[in-house]
Amino acid sequence: MIDKNLIFEKSNDSLSSYNFFKEDGFDITKHLPQNLIREELEVFPDMSEGEVVRHYIRLSNRNFGVDTGFYPLGSCTMKYNPKINEKISKMDPFANMHPYSSEDRVQGNLEVMYKAAQDLAEITGMDEVSIAPCAGAHGELTGLYVIDAYFKDKGEVRDVILVPDSAHGTNPASANVAGFKVVTVKSDANGFVSIEDLQVKIGDNVAALMLTNPNTLGLYEKNIETIVDICHKKDIQLYYDGANLNAILGISRPGDAGFDVAHLNLHKSLSTPHGGGGPGSGPVGVKKHLKAFLPNEKVTFADKKYKITGRGDKSIGKVRAFYCNFSVIIKSYAYIVTLGAEGLRKSGLLALLNANYLGYLLKDKFDIATKDHIMHEFVILLEKELRDSGLGIMDFAKRILDYGYHAPTVSFPLHNCLMIEPTETETIEVLDKFAETMLKIYDEMKNAPDLLKNSPTKTPIKRVDDITAARQPILKYDFQ
Ligand SMILES: *Cc1c(COP(=O)(O)O)cnc(C)c1O
Repeated sequence: MIDKNLIFEKSNDSLSSYNFFKEDGFDITKHLPQNLIREELEVFPDMSEGEVVRHYIRLSNRNFGVDTGFYPLGSCTMKYNPKINEKISKMDPFANMHPYSSEDRVQGNLEVMYKAAQDLAEITGMDEVSIAPCAGAHGELTGLYVIDAYFKDKGEVRDVILVPDSAHGTNPASANVAGFKVVTVKSDANGFVSIEDLQVKIGDNVAALMLTNPNTLGLYEKNIETIVDICHKKDIQLYYDGANLNAILGISRPGDAGFDVAHLNLHKSLSTPHGGGGPGSGPVGVKKHLKAFLPNEKVTFADKKYKITGRGDKSIGKVRAFYCNFSVIIKSYAYIVTLGAEGLRKSGLLALLNANYLGYLLKDKFDIATKDHIMHEFVILLEKELRDSGLGIMDFAKRILDYGYHAPTVSFPLHNCLMIEPTETETIEVLDKFAETMLKIYDEMKNAPDLLKNSPTKTPIKRVDDITAARQPILKYDFQ
């Protein structure tokens, strides 16, 4: 039986965790900051210390994360986050540095920022990287501002960004926020950028083409050289959305492929935890001709000293307060240094191996969108089977929860699909078990669709109306 009681419902007047000697004339409320005193909270819960601990541990167990189970969320790349990196980032000199400290006192921290930017430039094949942006989408916005500044500096008016129809929603959104118009480039029948359509869409007013490679179907753009040629003839800048970089880590580099700007999502390629709204990082790298336009501050090294310097008049200026989300940079840097070039390459190859192995186990029953060509993730199409069983994609996804897994991404980038991406560190046993479960649910879909329709049955909260839950969350206990 799941304990669903709130802490207020468990409250018992005869209990308390701490005794603040009120009876001896000591009133704790006089010694606390007055803004923290909650006078309106009449029913402050009274519980024993042990029960308080149990209550919150119980709540924490209702969460699902990479530390509780397999989390094959396609597109999002749930990287393994070694715990040692968390520990390093919390070390006193890192965690308690003040951003206004004098440079002399924080040489070690500046060294981390400097070397992280250098390593990221090496990994992406870019000439210079700014570690300022706070997320992948923020990296996109920063990169697009850089491109805008580049053309303004040349005295050219270019107000269009090309985005393939398979692109992540943040691409057109960032282009819009940066003040550009968005024009969509179609995919061909095999899921690659249509060269024919690209030829039609390139005009003198196009500033950049944004590409994710491998793309959101898990396909490496085989025409990348042609695409680069077509664009560069018109000085159209090639923007690399690095969300899938983990698939080519140490194998190929966007800079070598001809991209002018590239962002990395450190939480997708270089092992930092996925948000929960917490700090993220989306460093953006550029080729030489765009260096001067990057966000203003950078760390330089000369005369055996690290310094923070400005990039000068052409810089787009600040994109955030201070320098970067430092704790995230440290975690990634620790990961890079620990693995080294060989290890990073291996993590990329393992991501490919795991996805291909899982795809192999599923391909006989499931219709995989790109059967002969899987990179680090793959897309399963369920349109027909679901229709035949009178079910929706959510029914399939929610049933997966009953077996103790996080569901894959649904309905992206195609309707009624599941997008599966196993973490590179998952063992063969985990993948075998997951494949077995997926095949079982496939049979349930055919033979016992009600099991899917009524799922999940084993989670603390059953099926919620996603939209109402997001728009009208009930977060407050009603004392009436
Ligand atoms: C996740 C993702 C983004 C956005 O990155 P955030 O770090 O979540 O802002 C952009 N493009 C693609 C392809 C992605 O998968």
